[in-house]
Amino acid sequence: MKELEIKNVYKHYPIGNKEKFTALTDINVSFEKGELVSIVGESGSGKSTLMNLIGGLDSQFEGDIIVDGMNLRGQPDKVLDKYRKNKVGFVFQSFNLIPHLSILDNVTIALTLSGVSDKIKQEKATKILTKLGLGTQLKKKPDQLSGGQKQRVAIARALINDPDIILADEPTGALDSGTTLQILDIMKQIADEGKLVIMVTHSEKVASISSRVVEISDGKIVRDEVNNTYKKGKVEKEDKTERAGEKQNFPLWSAIRLAFHNMWASKTKNFLMAFGVAISIVALIIMLSFGSGLDNYIAGVSNSFTNPNIVTITKKTTDALTSLLPITRFEKDEKEQIIPDLNNALQDAGYEPFLTEDDLIPGYCGISLGGLKASFIVPGFEEEKPAELTCLYSTPPYYNEDNLVEGEMAVNEEIQEGTPIEIMLTPGAYASFRTMTGSSEAVGKTIKLTISIQGLTSPIEVEAIVTGIVDSSVIQKMVVAYIDYDVLEYYAALHGVEEFPVTAYYIDTDVKYAKVLNDYITKGDQDKYSGSVESSLTGMFSEMSSTVSVALTIISCISLIVSAIMILVVLYISVSERTKEIGVLKSIGARRKDIRSIFTSESLLVGILSGIVGIALSMIVYGIFVITLKSLLGFAPLSLKWWYFFLAMGVSVVISMLSGLYPSAKAARLDPVESLRRE
Ligand code: ADP
Ligand code: MG
Repeated sequence: MKELEIKNVYKHYPIGNKEKFTALTDINVSFEKGELVSIVGESGSGKSTLMNLIGGLDSQFEGDIIVDGMNLRGQPDKVLDKYRKNKVGFVFQSFNLIPHLSILDNVTIALTLSGVSDKIKQEKATKILTKLGLGTQLKKKPDQLSGGQKQRVAIARALINDPDIILADEPTGALDSGTTLQILDIMKQIADEGKLVIMVTHSEKVASISSRVVEISDGKIVRDEVNNTYKKGKVEKEDKTERAGEKQNFPLWSAIRLAFHNMWASKTKNFLMAFGVAISIVALIIMLSFGSGLDNYIAGVSNSFTNPNIVTITKKTTDALTSLLPITRFEKDEKEQIIPDLNNALQDAGYEPFLTEDDLIPGYCGISLGGLKASFIVPGFEEEKPAELTCLYSTPPYYNEDNLVEGEMAVNEEIQEGTPIEIMLTPGAYASFRTMTGSSEAVGKTIKLTISIQGLTSPIEVEAIVTGIVDSSVIQKMVVAYIDYDVLEYYAALHGVEEFPVTAYYIDTDVKYAKVLNDYITKGDQDKYSGSVESSLTGMFSEMSSTVSVALTIISCISLIVSAIMILVVLYISVSERTKEIGVLKSIGARRKDIRSIFTSESLLVGILSGIVGIALSMIVYGIFVITLKSLLGFAPLSLKWWYFFLAMGVSVVISMLSGLYPSAKAARLDPVESLRRE
C-alpha cells in the first residue's frame, strides 16, 4: 500500500454566490515513504491548494485522498485535527513562527497541545533543534534569528511529533541560495529517514535535487518525473519513540501559560486594558463602601439616639417643610387619641394595654423656624454677643448618659425664678461657645439664655449652667441646647402663657413595650404620628443614602458595561492580529477547543489582572476619599469590607470571560487555510 494516494481529486472554490473556480482538476498521483517530491508550477496553478488538501487543512473536495488507508474527504474536524497533529508536519515559506514564543516553545507547542510533560517536550525539542544546528539558540525569539535559522526552527516544529509526511510550501522561497541548499539538505535527510517529503518550489535547482518532480499547470498534473540520479542517503535507524501526540488533550494549565506568554508579548496594551477595567472595579468597590458606610453611619447615628426605653411621639404632617422635621403641635383632640391608639398597638401585639394619660411626658422640639429663638450670652464680655441656637430641645429623658461627651446630665428638679437652670449643649453649640469666649471650658459655666416663643410678648431670660455636652451625631453641627420641658413651662407660666406648645410626647417604659410602640409609630400604617426628629433626620439621610447608592450603582454598571465592550474590542482585534498564528496552531493539530481555551485563558488573565489592578487602585482611592471626607465633614461614611475584594475579582473575571466569549469563538472558527493565506 502506498503512503499517500490521490485519486480523481477536484477542488472547486466558490466565488460569489453561484460561480465557482476549479483550482484542481482530476488529480491522480501517489507517493511512497522516503520520497523527496518537488511540486513545481506557475503561481496560481494550484500547488498550495493541493498541499492544503493533503495536509488535512481542507477536506472539502471531490475524489479521494487516502493516507495510511484513511480517506481524508469529508472527515470531521476531530479526525483531521488528530491527523494534522500526528501524521503530517507543515513547513511554510514565511516560516510562520509565533513571534512571542522562544525557539524552544515554538517547537514544543505541538507537544504542548498534546499535554506532553515539560521534561519530555524539552528533551525532544532540544534534540531535534541541536540536530538542526540550533542547540545554542533555544531561548531566543524568532526575530533574533536569520531566515535560514527560522526555517530550521519551522522544520524542527514540523518534525517534533514524528510525522510520516512533511509538507513544505515553498520552504526556500524566502531564502538566499546558500541557505536554500542547507534547507534542501535537511529535507533530503528527513526523506532519507523514511518520511515522505513533499515540497512546493519555484526553483529548478531545488527540483533537480529531489527524487521526483511533479508539475502542475492550471490545476492539472502535466509532468511526473522520477529523478534517476537521486541517491538515497544512509541514515542510522532511529528507534521510533512512542508518539507523544496520541493523548490528544491540551491541559488548561498549558493554555493559561501560553495565554500568559501572549499577554506578556503585548503587555502595555494589556495593562492599559486592565487599567480601564480596573477603573470600573474601583467604581464598584467605592460604591459598595459608600453604600454600607452610609448605612453604618446612619445605624450608628440612630443608635446613639436610641434610648430603648423611650418612645417619642410627634405629629405627622404632610406640609412639605415640616414633614421633614415633625415639629407641629398636637391639637387637643389629637392628643387625647394618643393613649388609646398606643394601647391598641400593644393589644395588637398581644400585650395587655396598660398606658394611661399619666404616662405621657410632654416635650418640646423647637426649631427656630417654628417661632422659637434662643441665644446665650456669656458674661464677662465687654460687648455681649448673642449666638443663635438652631433649635431647642426639651427632651432630657431621651438622651443616654452614653451620649455625654463631657460633664453630667442636666437635672432640674426644683425650678425657681432667679435660680440658674441646668442645660446641656451639642458640640455645635459648644463650638459657638468657644468661638465667642475663646475658652474651651463650657461645662460649669453660667450663661444667659434668651428664649423667644410665639405667643409671648417678651422673651424669657434665664440664667443657665452648662452641665454637659451631648453628642447626637446627626445634629452635632447644629447649635442646640437641651432644656427640661418643665423649665420652659414654668417660665412660660410666669409670662402668662398657660399652655406652652407641646410638640412631642415621651413614654418611658419597658424595652419590649417600647419596641412595639416605636414600631407602631415609625413603621405602622398609621398617618397620625411620627417618631423623633432624629429618626426623621436619619430617615431622610437613609433616603439620601439610597439615592446615592442607586446613582453609584448605575455609574458602576455603566462603567462595567463600557469595560466589557472594551475587552471585547481589544480581544477581537487581537484575534484578527493573530489570525496567522491561529492558522499555524491549527496546522499543527490544535483543535477548535484548544484555540478557544487559549483565548478564554487570555480573557481569564485579563480578568485577574484587572481585578488585581482594580483592587490596588480601590485601596488608594478609598484612602483618598476617607482622608478628604474626614477633613471636610469630620467623618467618612465609607466602609470597606474584605469580601468586596473577592466580589470585585469575581466581577472582573466574569466580565472579562463573558467579553472574551465572542472573540474566542471567532478565533476557534477561523478557517486554517484562509488564516495561513493571510500575509
Ligand atoms: P499556487 O500555490 O500554485 O500559487 P493556489 O493553490 O494558491 O496556487 O491557488 C490556485 C488557484 O486557486 C488560484 O487561481 C487562486 O486564486 C485560487 N484560489 C485559492 N484559494 C482560493 C479561495 N479561497 N477562493 C477562491 N479562489 C482561490
Ligand atoms: Mg502557493
